[in-house]
Amino acid sequence: MRNIVSTVNTFVIVGGGLAAGKAAEALREHGHLGPLLVIGDEQERPYLRPPLSKGYLLGKEERDSIYVHPDDWYPKHEVDLLLGTSVKAVDRRAKEVELDDGRRVPYAKLLLATGSSPRRLAVPGADLDNVLYLRHVGDSERLKAAFTKGARIVVIGDGWIGLETAAAARMAGAEVTVLGHSELPLLKVLGREAAEVFAGLHKDHGVRLRPRVEVERITGTQGRVDGVVLADGSRLVADAVVVGIGITPNDQLAQQAGLDVRDGIVTDEHMRTSVADVYAAGDVANAYHPLLGRHVRVEHWANALHQPNTAALSMLGKDAVYDRLPYFYTDQYDLGMEYTGYAEPGGYDRVVFRGDTDERRFIAFWMSGNRVLAGMSVNVWDVIDPIRSLIQSRADVDDALLADPGVPLGSLLP
Ligand SMILES: Cc1cc2nc3c(=O)[nH]c(=O)nc-3n(C[C@H](O)[C@H](O)[C@H](O)COP(=O)(O)OP(=O)(O)OC[C@H]3O[C@@H](n4cnc5c(N)ncnc54)[C@H](O)[C@@H]3O)c2cc1C
Repeated sequence: MRNIVSTVNTFVIVGGGLAAGKAAEALREHGHLGPLLVIGDEQERPYLRPPLSKGYLLGKEERDSIYVHPDDWYPKHEVDLLLGTSVKAVDRRAKEVELDDGRRVPYAKLLLATGSSPRRLAVPGADLDNVLYLRHVGDSERLKAAFTKGARIVVIGDGWIGLETAAAARMAGAEVTVLGHSELPLLKVLGREAAEVFAGLHKDHGVRLRPRVEVERITGTQGRVDGVVLADGSRLVADAVVVGIGITPNDQLAQQAGLDVRDGIVTDEHMRTSVADVYAAGDVANAYHPLLGRHVRVEHWANALHQPNTAALSMLGKDAVYDRLPYFYTDQYDLGMEYTGYAEPGGYDRVVFRGDTDERRFIAFWMSGNRVLAGMSVNVWDVIDPIRSLIQSRADVDDALLADPGVPLGSLLP
């Protein structure tokens, strides 16, 4: 590493994930010529996490394919990567970050891209061996090793991570049970009809869904998990348990530094935090979204991919606003889904379907009055752009036209 301590105009990025990698790229692209340092606490250079529950977990994607940039990209672009290093504190007055080894690094501009961490299960036995979480590449490798033919896998949590790992485990020939709090997986996120599609998908692939259950404790033999006991007294035998019960933003650093933190680091639409010369992007940012008219913290890949560009422009003193609609996708068995927009539970009044939910080939539109708030395409491709345009147009749309597959979506635009 160069002697960064004495250099001026150093831009520092804390966090070694997708947002950090893309921010470094954008800063160089948009003309930052000074020193640029990425500090990440993992040993790996920035990589993508979606393959960890899909292609990489299934053994279909090679390790090399998950990285944001090739190894030599960083030296070529004079980006210093300080891996395996945690930032312990931000001194906003001195404009320095403090590393876990006590060194202090000055910054002219600082980007916090610290992402998020899995919520931990707080029941007795949760620390037994083979109680697994999924965030890092090593976690994915542990899951892959556990997902063998006939292995009994209990997945706690029926959100995206729970369902994707359940699919991967089934595809490896494991016996899979998914435990959920509510009546259907993803019920809160998608509403009943769309959630039923995912429940049907997993049942058809032989997953046992156990809705409305509470985990009381995890049991083990010689330090290794052997079962899960539910509040109703029933016990499931388990060779491994996967916990996917949501994530929390890594915002402690920002909080200690006195930044405005509310479910993530609060930023404006330029990705500026409440403190001068400090910016945030990716999973950790609770950013004001001008189209939605509110702050949103988006825990998805596309946000970590694009938001850093706005942050980089702002760090360089250029005018930039982040107003892309949230987008995410999932792949489970033979189902591919894309979703764009923003429809909170209770924030929409109905869902209009185009196509056949039984065949799992359809588009769903979340509506408020006559406006489309969000759209999801399931095994229907190349429609996300017109759906995004419909949402952005705020046009009044007739339900019957939306539901009619013969009507091109583009023709509904004003
Ligand atoms: C298994 C999995 C599958 C996913 N699948 C999808 C999907 O299909 N579609 C989708 O849209 N999204 C998906 N996501 C979400 C997507 O991967 C995240 O939104 C994205 O990774 C966020 O990137 P980020 O850089 O903001 O944060 P992160 O990826 O969390 O990276 C932050 C990095 O900063 C490091 N860090 C934190 N604090 C410090 C510190 N103090 N000092 C140094 N380093 C620090 C962390 O260790 C981490 O390496 C998935 C996520 C996971 C885990």
